[in-house]
Amino acid sequence: MQIPDPALVVLVGAAGSGKSTWAAANYRPTEVVSSDALRAVVGSGSADLDASNDAFEVLDLLVTGRTRRGLTVVVDTLGLDAERRAGWAALARKAGLPLVAVVVDTPAATCRARNAGRDRPVPASVLGAQLQRMRDIRRELETEGWEVHVVSGEASAAASAPTSSPG
Ligand code: ATP
Ligand code: MG
Repeated sequence: MQIPDPALVVLVGAAGSGKSTWAAANYRPTEVVSSDALRAVVGSGSADLDASNDAFEVLDLLVTGRTRRGLTVVVDTLGLDAERRAGWAALARKAGLPLVAVVVDTPAATCRARNAGRDRPVPASVLGAQLQRMRDIRRELETEGWEVHVVSGEASAAASAPTSSPG
């Protein structure tokens, strides 16, 4: 099933699942809004958690501006916060854009191994909680009204390209 375009696309996946890699393979950089990137813009770096509130404020502004113009926007965050998802969904509905959730489904062991090899690994307990949340996420997203697409974070990231070609 092809991902509609334009659309609001919310990525959902644990740390290290491959969300940012998939987004970069399938969308233009200007279409992707990333909480990590914005933490580095408003704070001292992508891992500056004290900058999270400001980063999400900017992210919401970008989602508002793009959806209002009917432009595709890919939200690159963990995607696990139902309240945040509801806010973005409301913006997309107002603009008449489809609500797409891309679940990056990567084996827990792969996420753990990738996390362990990173410069600033997420604490194991935090990653464990994220992986736990992933178990029921699909049903949760469908209940909320999202069109759910599951992609692999192990396969070639370009394998499940949306209808628009990346630029
Ligand atoms: P975070 O939530 O921390 O931002 P993420 O979900 O965005 O993580 P990425 O940064 O995209 O994850 O990927 C994590 C690591 O896994 C990177 O080193 C990346 O190169 C590797 N990776 C991602 N996707 C794939 C893939 N499809 N095949 C092989 N390696 C991948
Ligand atoms: Mg990322």
